[in-house]
Parts: sequence; structure tokens; C-alpha cells
Amino acid sequence: MGTGVRLIVLGKQGAGKGTQCVRLSHRYAIPHISTGDMLRAAVRNQTELGQIAGPLMDAGSLLGDDLIMSIVSERLSEPDAATRGFILDGVPRTVVQAELLEEKIGVDGIDCVINLDVPTEDVLQRLVSRRVCDDCGAIYSTNQPPAVNWTCDNCGGQVVQRKDDTAEAIMKRLAAYEAETLPLVDFYSQRGKLVTIDGSQNADAVFDATVAAIKAATRRS
Ligand code: AMP
Repeated sequence: MGTGVRLIVLGKQGAGKGTQCVRLSHRYAIPHISTGDMLRAAVRNQTELGQIAGPLMDAGSLLGDDLIMSIVSERLSEPDAATRGFILDGVPRTVVQAELLEEKIGVDGIDCVINLDVPTEDVLQRLVSRRVCDDCGAIYSTNQPPAVNWTCDNCGGQVVQRKDDTAEAIMKRLAAYEAETLPLVDFYSQRGKLVTIDGSQNADAVFDATVAAIKAATRRS
């Protein structure tokens, strides 16, 4: 592994992970590795992986740990991530995934785990109004649409509602978060890697607090 910053961002669906990860990846010049984005691209391109992932994603169910971690492991071995660092978004999502990641890169293969904390009532509100660019993943909302006719301000792609942002799939995904992902807060806290940030502040304040936390964590290590 190289010397760049290596981050994991945890948080419920709608906590702002995607928005913050894009900004952090620019700030630190590191690749933003989002399993959700990788899987949505596979579905769009109708690959074999996409055919397995599509129905599970639409239902709000998680894919198997081994399958996810083999994709992530391969991605982490690419030169950009291996030399510059990375930011993991949406993975690990279970303790088994965290253990598999640790087997690959070691406890100190991660500099800092950011836990974006937002109350469930707030994320529900954000998720029903969330709209995303089908191509680049940029995030909008019905309150803050793109400038022109639901085409992405960044890339001109179509801005749509995610298929799994339905009330039923949202409830299922939030339940999966509580059951499967929340234990990672303890997992990384025990390893001295966890920083919890109040994600209900505005996006600029969350970003500033996150950058300060990363600075403190990397100074320590
Ligand atoms: P996300 O965009 O992170 O909310 O992910 C969308 C969907 O992709 C999830 O609801 C799961 O079906 C699947 N997925 C993404 N990341 C993972 C993961 N680490 N483990 C299992 N399933 C995942």
C-alpha cells in the first residue's frame, strides 16, 4: 500500500456519504470507490455481475460478502488506489466484509473511519426527495434540481430517482443498516479508527469537520 490517505465512510442511506466522498476524493486526490456505483454501472452495462446484482439491489437486499469483497479487493489492487490511497463508500457493510478487508490490507491499512451520524427521520426525508445522475452519480433533490430539465450539471446525464429509493426498499435498507452495518461502529472504534461527525449539519460544515478529523487522525498515525 502507498502513502496516501485511506478512508472508510460509514453512515445510513441518505446520511450524505456520496456527497462527502466526492468532495473528499477531490480534496485528497484519491479514488472514490463506491460499491453501489460499481454495481449500478454493472447493471447498466448488463454484465454478468449486473444480472446478479440488479434484482437484489431493487429489493434493497445486500449482495454476498465474498462477491462484494472480491470486487473491492480487485479494485484496491489497481495502481491508483494502491499508490495514492482511497475512499471506500458503501463498503464494508458487514462485520464479515470488514474482517475480509482487514485480512487484505491490515488494521493500519485504514487511516480513519468517518461515521456520518444523521437521525433516521432526517434521512427518510432526504431519501424520498433524492435524485441522482444515472451516469456520474451526482446527487440532487427535488428541492435542489439541476439547472436544466433534469440533466446533470456536471456531465449532462439523466437525473432520475434511484429504483431502490422507494418507501419499501428504503425501510428494508435502513433495517439492514441497523442489523448489519451499525456493528462496524464498535468494530472500528475498538481499533481506534472511528470518528463520528454530525451529518445533519449543512454539507460544507460536515466537510470541514471531516477534513479536520482526517488531519488529526493522520497526524497521530
Ligand atoms: P448504495 O448505493 O451503497 O446504497 O448501494 C446500493 C445497493 O447495492 C445496496 O442496497 C446493495 O443491494 C448493494 N450493495 C452496495 N454495496 C454493498 C456491500 N458492501 N455489500 C452488499 N451489498 C452492497
